[in-house]
Amino acid sequence: MNIHEYQAKGLLKRYGVSVPRGGVAYTAEEAVDVARDLGGPVWVVKSQIHAGGRGAGRFKDDPDGKGGVRVVKSLDDVKEAAGMLGRTLVTKQTGPGGREVNRLYVEEGCDIARELYLSLLVDRARSRVTIIASTEGGMEIEEVAHNTPEKIVTVAIDPATGMSGFHARKVAFALGLEGKQVGAAVKFLTGMYKAFRELDASTVEINPLVVTGAGEVLALDAKMSFDESAMFRHKELEELRDESEEDPAELEAARHSLNYIKLDGNIGCMVNGAGLAMATMDIIKLHGGEPANFLDVGGGATKERVTAAFKLILSDANVEGILVNIFGGIMRCDVIAEGVVAAAREVSLHVPLVVRLEGTNVELGKKILAESGLPIRSADDLADAAEKIVSAVKEAG
Ligand code: GDP
Ligand code: MN
Repeated sequence: MNIHEYQAKGLLKRYGVSVPRGGVAYTAEEAVDVARDLGGPVWVVKSQIHAGGRGAGRFKDDPDGKGGVRVVKSLDDVKEAAGMLGRTLVTKQTGPGGREVNRLYVEEGCDIARELYLSLLVDRARSRVTIIASTEGGMEIEEVAHNTPEKIVTVAIDPATGMSGFHARKVAFALGLEGKQVGAAVKFLTGMYKAFRELDASTVEINPLVVTGAGEVLALDAKMSFDESAMFRHKELEELRDESEEDPAELEAARHSLNYIKLDGNIGCMVNGAGLAMATMDIIKLHGGEPANFLDVGGGATKERVTAAFKLILSDANVEGILVNIFGGIMRCDVIAEGVVAAAREVSLHVPLVVRLEGTNVELGKKILAESGLPIRSADDLADAAEKIVSAVKEAG
């Protein structure tokens, strides 16, 4: 789960990480109020969307105009900048569709002497939380990694010891910090690491981390994402979820406890078990097709869940055929067949459907499908199923 910049800064601040003062605004009036309370003389008005590259991004209705981060010097200009609300911002990270700006963050301006990069993430190869730091702040770290990899420092943290002053100082020196900036950076990183661990984050990215003219070390931007599987123990984080930033189909799936991920192909898949779902996608590709989604309906595939899954698959306009592949181990195949038939009727299915059932009561299940009067094709095994759906889609198309 991702959150907005202002929310990430709010969380980090609680852990002793220094951030500029600021406030969120949903309207131009609120933006001006926040700016007045902060007191100027310089403010930064920032679009809040779950994507980076806002500064260099452009609004869809004004591709040659200004970006999504504005530095302004009067309350009138704050109001004018708040005109970003309700408009669609396109950045390198949003894709061509862009994202609608519904919230702004108004911050006090700061005098930037240096822009640095700092992040924490889980390095899967090393199985460790790892600090990534670079003197090249303000640009995309992927670009730095590609062009000047020697300017990136990584420090892995042993989970048994956690972050120590030694790790933080190593990073501070690599960033060229000196004097009291080193102490400030140690406090910054220590707080950042504590937040990462306690909140079950998967990434915290500060880009840029700035050194101000007065030598302060501040997070000018902040991005945080959290491990979805740990959300049950962070009810307070669940409240930070902004559903307008999430994929509607994936949200609907989560409501029905379905694991759904949209892909680019045209063959919808409904499978029980993640491993079988992966194998199903592989075998579709092996037979020359392209899966439209990954969908694991889980172990207890009830009629309601199967129906919800069908609706979800069909909500994708690219879907030209559906392959159901269910292994009835704990579930009985006849119950699944009834669910499939009821769901196909309810959504008045208009694309070819191939069903491969295996397991308990499989014969009865196939009989229910055959006698349903619906154009459902039964398959005997995985290869047979993949072949049938790929050729059915080709014929229909
Ligand atoms: P992003 O483009 O989505 O990553 O948004 P950022 O929050 O990183 O802002 C983009 C850029 O705006 C930063 O790299 C800074 O150069 C600039 N910026 C942000 N806040 C301030 C500020 O307070 N003062 C000045 N002068 N520039 C700022
Ligand atoms: Mn940034």
